[in-house]
Amino acid sequence: MTYLDYAATSPLLPEVSKAMHLAEQKFFANASALHTPGHLAMNEIEHARELLAEIIGSNKDEIIFTSGASESNNTVIRSFEGHEIETSPLEHHSIIEAAKVYGGHDKPKLYSYMLANNEVGDILPIKKIAKKAHSESGFIHSDLTQSLGKIRLNVRELDLDYATFSAHKIGGPVGVGALYVRKGAPFKPLIIGGNQEKKRRGGTYNTVGIVGFGAALKKMKELESWKIYDTKVRKLRDGLAEWILKKIPGSSLNTELKPNKSLPNILNVSFQAAEGESIQLYLDAEGVIVSTGSACAAGDIKPSHVLMAKSGGDAEVAHSSIRFSFGLDSTEADIEKVMGVLPGIINRLQKMSTVKMKE
Ligand code: PMP
Repeated sequence: MTYLDYAATSPLLPEVSKAMHLAEQKFFANASALHTPGHLAMNEIEHARELLAEIIGSNKDEIIFTSGASESNNTVIRSFEGHEIETSPLEHHSIIEAAKVYGGHDKPKLYSYMLANNEVGDILPIKKIAKKAHSESGFIHSDLTQSLGKIRLNVRELDLDYATFSAHKIGGPVGVGALYVRKGAPFKPLIIGGNQEKKRRGGTYNTVGIVGFGAALKKMKELESWKIYDTKVRKLRDGLAEWILKKIPGSSLNTELKPNKSLPNILNVSFQAAEGESIQLYLDAEGVIVSTGSACAAGDIKPSHVLMAKSGGDAEVAHSSIRFSFGLDSTEADIEKVMGVLPGIINRLQKMSTVKMKE
């Protein structure tokens, strides 16, 4: 299988699998308990917390473990219930939908802008937005789910009040994430119950999941993964993009390849007179796994809101797009596989289509 859907989720790293297996045997006790096995479990959680804090440049008390990025996003938005909330049209649904439910008119205002987008990879000018937010005595949240591990991050340098992370985009398990909350920033827990996470998130600690997140972070730090993304992965991505533009009629990029404009591991392409879902299915039949729009919106027949926003409402561009997303393990052979099957698939679909190709 040629797996090119890392932005949707990434396979568990072997180190993560091993660490989680060990944790299941050794650190199964309730981490809040006062007994020894409880303390041992809590130690593991605190190690993971320290590691994330070190990687993102925060204090460890500013990190709350959650069930994933959707929960982290929802938590920040709900903390501003009744307040003005401004988001970008590129945000994940867990921001957009939550802002619709909780947004209001009060001040201070929350700005929620992702640093990098999951569908097209666009990088947004977060520092500038943070400056604006703070000049108005407002606050800034950034969804860093896709950025973690791909580019160097520092929440202080970015001047963020809140940031969202998810383990499964970096080779960790699904169902674990984190939220950075700057000390003193407004906060309301989403899950009320026990005293876990210093009363900021109730629920028995997911020790095994958090250990898995920690193992993925450790690997990321050891490898300095952002350097590999910036070199090897970027080269693969750019190579495929240039090849597609040259070889496939009616192709256009929805991702700007310039460094600092997009994440190095995401490539979103549209093909005139070919439907994204069909391309995806034909590629799947050839063993090449990609996605159309975002996986979170799969099964949703509406065109991707991100591509609609980017193309100025051109549903054809949105409907004819696919996303290739690469990981640290992606190779030249993966790209060659795509090159071998994609032209035939697009050609077949374009021939069958009733949509006229533009010159
Ligand atoms: N935000 C972004 C930018 C994402 O890409 C995703 C995953 N598609 C999420 C949030 C949701 O992450 P999780 O699955 O951890 O809830």
